[in-house]
Amino acid sequence: MKIAVIGSINMDIVMKVHRLPEKGETLMASDYLTVPGGKGANQAVAAARLGASVAMIGALGNDAFGDTLLKGFQDEGLNVEGIQRTTGASGNALITVDDQGDNTILVYPGANGDITPQWIHQQEKLIQEADWVMLQLEIPMNCVVAAAKLAKKHGKKVILNPAPAAELPPELYTFLDLLTPNETELALLTGITGSEAGMQELLKRGVKTIVVTLGSKGSMAKSSDGIFTAEPYAIKAVDTTAAGDAFNAGLVVALAEERPLQEALAFANAVGALTATQMGAQNSLPLRGQVDDFMKSYQA
Ligand code: ADP
Repeated sequence: MKIAVIGSINMDIVMKVHRLPEKGETLMASDYLTVPGGKGANQAVAAARLGASVAMIGALGNDAFGDTLLKGFQDEGLNVEGIQRTTGASGNALITVDDQGDNTILVYPGANGDITPQWIHQQEKLIQEADWVMLQLEIPMNCVVAAAKLAKKHGKKVILNPAPAAELPPELYTFLDLLTPNETELALLTGITGSEAGMQELLKRGVKTIVVTLGSKGSMAKSSDGIFTAEPYAIKAVDTTAAGDAFNAGLVVALAEERPLQEALAFANAVGALTATQMGAQNSLPLRGQVDDFMKSYQA
């Protein structure tokens, strides 16, 4: 199964604090880590660790973070032909995580912001080779639209994780097989607070299946086949950074393996839950064997 991920690549600079700082306040952090992140990169690495063959399409700067991130992808076995180097900085994110596992995140797009629709079109071969194309919203919106349209032209399945939350151009909905907002993103996209009514509204706009992630409450989905809900796995959340990315990768890997939506939701919940048990972004993404063992031990 082949997946092309078109999206952001960041170096995350993570600081652990007892509580999140107030406006104007300086706090001492108790821990510091640099961790490869960015929603696109997280989803690509997550899918590769779950057993998919993954091409990462995106941009890095010409800095040391860029070198480190590229080497990381090669070590994960990703196809990196679709990564361009710019003359500026790589994307990065400043993340604070408190004792409860809640976080704040500041993102500097860097090279991610320099991607253009023309350059997306130059990656047509990699898109053509994929079964599924995964998108998020940390590269310019016109590039997300160009990528979805190009993927659809080649009959590929397209998933958009609409994060960070932003309104979408109406035509983008019509290119999507799957749209995966969390509850906040669902409310922003639709202006509706109830999940079911919100999902119905998105189906009306042309998406085939809506999957809503519900944090510690698991996930639910709606398509023309009806509503599906998947119970959460009870875990002790340490840091939910990248749980949504892991969930998306799990969902696509299971669907690419031709498993039914209900089973794919359960698998994705397990991948998201396991990710929330570790601090950090890419470093906390589980391997396929860990997910399978976790699901088995949970049933036992
Ligand atoms: P996002 O970070 O994008 O808002 P969520 O927080 O909803 O995403 O997490 C994505 C998925 O990860 C959830 O749908 C769930 O399956 C799993 N997950 C996240 N946090 C927890 C948790 N505390 N307990 C169990 N599962 C979790």
